[in-house]
Amino acid sequence: MRVTVLVGGVGGARFLLGLRELPGVEVTAVVNVGDDLWLHGLRICPDLDTCLYTLGGGIDPERGWGRRAETWTVAEELAAYGAEPTWFGLGDRDIATHLVRTRMLRAGYTLADVTAALAHRWQPGVTLLPASDDRVETHVVVPDPDTGPQARRAIHFQEWWVRHKAALPAERFVSVGAEQASVLPAARAAIEQADAVLLAPSNPVVSIGTILEIPGVRDALRATPARVVGLSPIVGGRPLRGMADACLAAIGVATTAEAVAAHYGARRDGGILDGWLVHTGDAAEVPGIAVRAVPLLMTDVDATAAMAREALDLCGVGVG
Ligand code: GDP
Ligand code: CA
Repeated sequence: MRVTVLVGGVGGARFLLGLRELPGVEVTAVVNVGDDLWLHGLRICPDLDTCLYTLGGGIDPERGWGRRAETWTVAEELAAYGAEPTWFGLGDRDIATHLVRTRMLRAGYTLADVTAALAHRWQPGVTLLPASDDRVETHVVVPDPDTGPQARRAIHFQEWWVRHKAALPAERFVSVGAEQASVLPAARAAIEQADAVLLAPSNPVVSIGTILEIPGVRDALRATPARVVGLSPIVGGRPLRGMADACLAAIGVATTAEAVAAHYGARRDGGILDGWLVHTGDAAEVPGIAVRAVPLLMTDVDATAAMAREALDLCGVGVG
């Protein structure tokens, strides 16, 4: 059975760890590229790397991002030169990934080619596809008190998230380059030819939302004969691990499982969802969306596999 999943970083990667355990399931993950950025001449793809490292067993389990047994010599040397920025955690092992990626991109390979090459080492057990080969970068519009009381400026999402810890009031998110971008043809095909399409419990604004802004993605979700089912990243009115509430607030969506489902919308009414899984005890009522409440805590691989099983069942393609 072919299952295609839209994913971000940590929440998406953990979900894939459970989904890939199900028997007879061939998984394709369409990964957010909105967090990607250039730093110190290196191309960095935080969500793709989190998926590669998590699924390949190289992730730091405590931090949830970056490499296990990481060292920071290069970052210390850069800081000694006063080379900005210093707020992004660039570990020595991680830098090797960015070096390989950057030289391949400079040699003319696409991001999808690069991802396949990196996956050759990590053997993630699922097909990881960047949502687009084109540059689509999330920027955040924030107040700029230095320039004037009403002034605004846009900063890269990573600067807002990592440096400012999402504490600067976000006015809106802009997907720079999205209009000129197009969905990776293989990602489009994976959505259109799937037996089931899932939305991982990833950030609805800057992970799933950014993927949805890439021209062709919504069309593929509308066209696919498969059912589309999402898993709520909001449990009991809060995001788990992370600051997704700050992102939802900026786009005027309440931090509840129901509000996120309504934001995605029912497919029959021009939205993207046929079904929505909420955590036990949560409720959601959105006309046109079939809702089921099941445990949604990714505490270990078995619990996560059980979530994936429920999602496929709601898609009408249950596994044994
Ligand atoms: P990021 O790109 O690293 O921020 O990761 P994602 O966008 O893929 O996922 C972040 C989201 O995962 C957050 O909004 C969390 O609420 C959600 N999340 C993390 N752990 C869990 C979990 O155990 N269960 C559920 N339902 N959601 C989770
Ligand atoms: Ca991310």
